[in-house]
Amino acid sequence: MSDPTKIFLNEQDMPTQWYNIAADMPTPMKPPLHPGTGQPIGPEDLAPVFPMNLIEQEVSQERWIDIPDEVMEKLLLWRPSPLYRAKALEKALDTPAKIFYKNEGVSPAGSHKPNTAIPQAYYNKEFGIKRLTTETGAGQWGSALAFACQLFGLELKVYMVRISFDQKPFRKLMMQTWGADCIPSPSPTTQAGRAILEKMPDTPGSLGIAISEAIEDAVTSENTRYSLGSVLNHVMLHQTIIGQEAKKQMAMVNAYPDVIIGCAGGGSNFAGLSFPFICDKIHGKDMRVIAVEPAACPTLTKAPFAYDFGDTAMTTPLLPMHSLGHNFVPPPLHAGGLRYHGMSPLVSQLVMDDLIEPLALHQLECYKAAVLWARTEGFISAPETSHALAATVREAQRAKEEGKERVILMNWSGHGLMDLLGYDAYLSGKLSDYSLPQEAIEQALHDLDGLPKP
Ligand SMILES: *Cc1c(COP(=O)(O)O)cnc(C)c1O
Repeated sequence: MSDPTKIFLNEQDMPTQWYNIAADMPTPMKPPLHPGTGQPIGPEDLAPVFPMNLIEQEVSQERWIDIPDEVMEKLLLWRPSPLYRAKALEKALDTPAKIFYKNEGVSPAGSHKPNTAIPQAYYNKEFGIKRLTTETGAGQWGSALAFACQLFGLELKVYMVRISFDQKPFRKLMMQTWGADCIPSPSPTTQAGRAILEKMPDTPGSLGIAISEAIEDAVTSENTRYSLGSVLNHVMLHQTIIGQEAKKQMAMVNAYPDVIIGCAGGGSNFAGLSFPFICDKIHGKDMRVIAVEPAACPTLTKAPFAYDFGDTAMTTPLLPMHSLGHNFVPPPLHAGGLRYHGMSPLVSQLVMDDLIEPLALHQLECYKAAVLWARTEGFISAPETSHALAATVREAQRAKEEGKERVILMNWSGHGLMDLLGYDAYLSGKLSDYSLPQEAIEQALHDLDGLPKP
């Protein structure tokens, strides 16, 4: 029999614990710092923003954390997600590489994001919270959290980066269908929003600004907390179900990856797939792990590992991460989910420790790979995901040049059925590569001056 195209895990074989890489980090994590005093913060400093049960996960050093039954029950709506072998792409590239991919586009919201939206809604509800606020870039996180809040009976207000709010009305309609309230950011409803609008009335908005608004709303409203869809340790934790499933599925066909690839905005889908494998790498296994970002927002490849704020209004704790500076507003590229100025501290530290290789790619190469993917594998990819596809194509071509039968594992983080305008721009030749001038980067990095150094 030929090799299977799809590898399914039975529901009863779904992982029942999350993997916490903090327990295995070769370099211990540096603590978040208080924005005012510059001293390490304690759990109580985060209490106005997050529920304590999630704060405990954020700082946990336990290697394994049980997934609650109520969370398992909701995840089973679409999980375990299938592992695919991209046979048609292999053939089109005439490569000896074996390309596997995890299909995270099968969730109700169409990406990996519900993997953390569900547990976050659950833990907030358990803690007695009635309402959540959040920001969203392209709208994937807002829609994932809208879906999750509906399942657990929580209210949700979403501050959506204005450029995406205008360009992507369908995500807003998904949020409304799931019962959430979604407004463009910056908005006149918060102090942070009003301050930005006064200075820059025509700003396209940014995730940093939207985060400031959502946090302000959460800490000034009753029974309300804030929820973040990426970057933080507990988000990386929740996503590790992807890599754990993938490991079991690879074992079912006697395969183990030589190369692992994911796109990285805040780092969560990449971490979700790679961390359970990086655990093996820390313990001596030989493999390459590649995090792919847009050349127009080159956090891992061009920005220093520094302490910076997560938001523009400088209200969040200072996180040790690769950051382009908290005021950095990237050009309006189509991969809205990859436009954040910072990066997960866990992913950042692992890059510093040479366990992860960062790679920055331009959008034309990414769209070219996404169109090849659609015309071979069939699925239409999110613009974010296309970065992982382009890196996969590069690795497959390299395997061909070197005549190596390399095993590649990639995270297909989501579908692009709500993002077809990007394809339109590409197919009609209107898209160009945007090279971020070095001066723009250096200008943005001045915001790090005077902040503590990790
Ligand atoms: C949000 C998103 C990303 C980027 O976020 P990460 O936290 O880096 O995973 C990537 N792909 C898709 C489909 C997304 O929705």
